[in-house]
Amino acid sequence: MYELLKNQINKFLGKNISPEVRALLDAIDLSYKNFITDRLLLEESMQKSAEKILEANRKLKEESLRQKDIIDKMKRLYSLNLFDGDLQNEIEDEDLFYVFEKLAELINWQREATLKLQKNEANLTGLIENTNESIWSIDSNYNILTLNSVFQKSFHQLNGHLLQVGECILSYLDAAWLDEWKNYYDKTLSGSRFTIEKVFHLNKENRFYEFNFSPIVTGNKVTGAAIFTRDITARKYFEKEILEAKDTAIAATRAKSEFLAMMSHEIRTPLNGIIGVTGLLNETELSGEQKEYIDIIHLSGDSLLTIINDILDFSKIESGKLELEEAPFDLRSVIEEAFDLLAHKALEKNMDILYFIDPGVPAGIVGDITRLRQIIVNLVNNAIKFTDYGEVFVSVSQLNVEDEIHELQFAVKDTGIGIPDDKKARLFNAFSQVDSSTTRKFGGTGLGLAICRRLVQLMNGKIWVESKLGEGSTFFFTLKVPVSDAAPRVYVKGKLTELLNKKILLVDDNPTNIRILEHQCKQWGMIPQSAQSPKDALQLIRSEYKFDLALIDMVMPEMTGLELGTEIRKYLDIKNLPAIMLTSATLSGEAERHVAQLFNATLSKPIKQNQLFDVVTSILANRTPSTGTLIEKKNIKLSENYPLRILLAEDNNINRKLALSMFEKIGYAADAVGNGLEAVDAFEHKQYDLVFMDVQMPEMDGFEATKNIHKTKTKTQPVIIAMTANAMPGDREKCINEGMDDYISKPILLKDIKEIILKWGRVIVEKRKNAKMQNEEPLIIDPKAIANIRELDDDDDSVVNTMIDMFYEDTPSHITKIKKAVLEKNFEDLSFFAHGLKGICLNLGAKPLGEVCLALEIKGRTKDDSGLTGATQKMEELYKKTCDELCKYKVL
Ligand code: ADP
Repeated sequence: MYELLKNQINKFLGKNISPEVRALLDAIDLSYKNFITDRLLLEESMQKSAEKILEANRKLKEESLRQKDIIDKMKRLYSLNLFDGDLQNEIEDEDLFYVFEKLAELINWQREATLKLQKNEANLTGLIENTNESIWSIDSNYNILTLNSVFQKSFHQLNGHLLQVGECILSYLDAAWLDEWKNYYDKTLSGSRFTIEKVFHLNKENRFYEFNFSPIVTGNKVTGAAIFTRDITARKYFEKEILEAKDTAIAATRAKSEFLAMMSHEIRTPLNGIIGVTGLLNETELSGEQKEYIDIIHLSGDSLLTIINDILDFSKIESGKLELEEAPFDLRSVIEEAFDLLAHKALEKNMDILYFIDPGVPAGIVGDITRLRQIIVNLVNNAIKFTDYGEVFVSVSQLNVEDEIHELQFAVKDTGIGIPDDKKARLFNAFSQVDSSTTRKFGGTGLGLAICRRLVQLMNGKIWVESKLGEGSTFFFTLKVPVSDAAPRVYVKGKLTELLNKKILLVDDNPTNIRILEHQCKQWGMIPQSAQSPKDALQLIRSEYKFDLALIDMVMPEMTGLELGTEIRKYLDIKNLPAIMLTSATLSGEAERHVAQLFNATLSKPIKQNQLFDVVTSILANRTPSTGTLIEKKNIKLSENYPLRILLAEDNNINRKLALSMFEKIGYAADAVGNGLEAVDAFEHKQYDLVFMDVQMPEMDGFEATKNIHKTKTKTQPVIIAMTANAMPGDREKCINEGMDDYISKPILLKDIKEIILKWGRVIVEKRKNAKMQNEEPLIIDPKAIANIRELDDDDDSVVNTMIDMFYEDTPSHITKIKKAVLEKNFEDLSFFAHGLKGICLNLGAKPLGEVCLALEIKGRTKDDSGLTGATQKMEELYKKTCDELCKYKVL
């Protein structure tokens, strides 16, 4: 058709067709050709896809037949339960076989899982059904998920409804419980797990239940709450029984401690009488036989007391009631105080007791001074007890310092009987002794070391012993203590020029003592030379060497110190070689006189470092009294070191008398009253420093009296020491809580009183000094000014006397003129006469009067009339006082 059209156009237009028409014809031509190609292509493709569709259709038909076959087979196989049989034979198709195999696995697994689930469910139901406890769970809408019949029954009993799964628990709860239980459920549903206890009245009895609420969590969401209960009635009754039993036990223990306290009181009170009165009797005229009996009574009383104290101490420590004090104290004085208490025992055995503290050991430490002293006394006492010859040597050294805590090691060494190896370990157990036979030579309870061990442990230390049978023992213990900041007592008073490079001869047969003395003298800057026998000493003296001082022990084997002294004096008199005698023995009157002629001073052992220092310096500084002797008084009375006003409040006549005589023995004249009321009264008349206060007294007990004394307005409060016959745990605390300062238990022993005075005397004296410094009025006359005037005198004190006379003569007219000037407000005169009197006063050292005059003079100069009357009155008062005081300086 196209060709036709083309020919017709060609014909019609001829050869001359315009280019535009040609282009059009070409375009038509091209498009026609394209159309033809497209149609051909379409026809081809239509034919092809029809084939494909038919092919696919066929395949689909086949596939559907196959599927049908598979399904049929599966149905058949499943219904015939052929999975257990031989699948391979049944199914030839490989893919199908694979599908079937997986399917079979799946079906078997599901079957097993169902079985398991059923079994678990049965178990769970059995479990929750076979328990006596109530179990139930709810979903987040409070609907029951699970419940067991126990719960169902109790719920029914309490709320009157037989609850079923799916029901909302809140709908059936008794109104009285609704809010409370809804709260518990809500709390659990918000994720909390908790337990509560409840009591229900069921079957005519009270039953106690514990309810355990736990959230049920699915994924990470709380979907419900499970509640388990437990009947705890039996447990509750058991707990009640236990509590009752505990109360009974506490009551029994209290009764026991009260009994112990009472027994302690009951035993100590008569013991106080026995020990005290035997002490007093001993001071009276007695026959030898009587004295012996008295000594036995005294000794028996003493050991009974030790036993009671040990047992009480031990029970106090064992029951954990012992609390250690934490206070700063001086280490050296603890050892010296312990030695003071035991010196007489060492003296009886003619033994030396010595101590040495390593220079590195801190002087002041913080801890419980009383308990440390108790350990040292215990060990040193044992050392003396188990040693017949030789010495007891206490040494202290520092092991290490960590975080400002110093570890100190104490060693108590003796030269006694020693301890067999197999007994060493047990010694620190209670009631353990090396010789436990009834016929043993040494007494004791076997508690001392057990107590020491407990105390040392409380102080963070340990205790042990090293010993060789027949050679001696060393007991070691360590302590961990902080160092005290408070300034310690000064012992090493620096290298004084009096001592520096002075040559000192030390004569003692005891090498330990020599070692200690050498060390000490070197610390003071002296040059020591030692001789271990009098013979060596004489040789040294006869040599060229010139000594400045000799220190000689009294008891030595070949020759006594006294004999050596006599020998020395043949060459050198007391001025050329001053000497000090060291003695532990009591000297007879005759010997004492002899010593006084040959020696400058005597020091009794154990030697205290500060005493030795004082004696050595006084001799070398030539401060020796003109008689040439400085015999140290033995047993220096405490009252000289600590002058104290003491009040004793004690209702028991015997005990009062006893205590008074003990005070007298150490140099105190104490006042005594019979009850608390009288004690308070006594403070109206006199200011006491130290009160020993019995606790149990008629009319007013010690506690009440303490309170009343504290209420009285005194410049300084007294130190009040409770005296009680109870020595039980808590007694001390009770006394301290009641406002007392310290505590001693009866029977009161001289050593206890001494200890208390040593402990508190220092505090009181210090306090008094401070108070005095604060309150001290300036001296009316400064003695230095008088001394200066006296220097102008030749021999006759005439200048001093004249000046005092002039004061008496001139001052009255000055005073009258000043008063007149004040009255007339004549400031010029006031300033003139006040100035004049001021000059006279200051020359004589009458400072306070001079100062008032100065004030008046200034007022005159500045024409200030304020306070003039007061100042004039003060001037007159001071004038009288000055006259009285000056009188004392006049030499007649
Ligand atoms: P007590 O001395 O009261 O018997 P201790 O507990 O203090 O009780 O001592 C227990 C025992 O240890 C003593 O009985 C003694 O056998 C032995 N003992 C203690 N110290 C020494 C010592 N320094 N030398 C020898 N034996 C000692």
